Amino acid sequence: MTMLYEGKAKQIFSTDNPNEIIIHYKDDATAGNGAKKGTIVNKGVINNKITAIIYNYLESKGVKTHLIEVLNDRDQLCRKVEIVPLEVICRNMVAGSASVRYKIEEGTTLNSPIYEICWKRDDLGDPLINDYHAIAFNLATEDELKKIYKMTDEINRHLSEMWHKLGIILVDFKIEFGRTSDGEIVLADEISPDTCRLWDEKSHEKLDKDRFRRDLGNIEDAYIEILRRLKEL
Ligand code: UDP
Repeated sequence: MTMLYEGKAKQIFSTDNPNEIIIHYKDDATAGNGAKKGTIVNKGVINNKITAIIYNYLESKGVKTHLIEVLNDRDQLCRKVEIVPLEVICRNMVAGSASVRYKIEEGTTLNSPIYEICWKRDDLGDPLINDYHAIAFNLATEDELKKIYKMTDEINRHLSEMWHKLGIILVDFKIEFGRTSDGEIVLADEISPDTCRLWDEKSHEKLDKDRFRRDLGNIEDAYIEILRRLKEL
């Protein structure tokens, strides 16, 4: 196997099949575009499991994803896709950068979800852009953007309902999409406490990477708790 790419939290390896790759989940954690670095014990094992449960749930609701199967504790076999260079963010409540940008208290509810796109450019800190930028910079076509927003809306509805059943508020999340060899847009990358804000419905306790970003402690326990609840599905 050849390593094709190494990111902050995952490594990507080629396989004998040119249409398939292996994604290896690491324990490394970063925040603030790499400014803060650390490890969260067993995060890779937990996020591999969490992503697989969520992707299988979404597939059962008709959402196409890149996941083929979980191979072992840290590895997933996935369809090889060309990643659309956008981070698609969905907000159901104000938190994080939105709270800072708009000076609105964290936890404020919104009349309707906000969908944002950021250009995946580490050297620029993933700037917030709009649809015009995405099309003008050739990051995605108009048709692809339409499909991406429609899928994001469906994913948000399915996941908000799923987390609610488990006593958790889906505050916000980031997703990524890929193009398959036949031009289909599918959900790619991961969905885990690294990429979502997840608050306990009763206590509003944070059960996600904000515990790492903000030095709140009990990080590992939060990730384990999320996996425990997902197993109740
Ligand atoms: N997010 C992510 N990767 C990023 C930036 C954000 O997974 O590079 C997720 C983050 O975990 C949160 C949501 O996207 O669930 C919105 O993040 P926000 O824009 O508030 O940025 P942050 O405050 O995390 O810098």
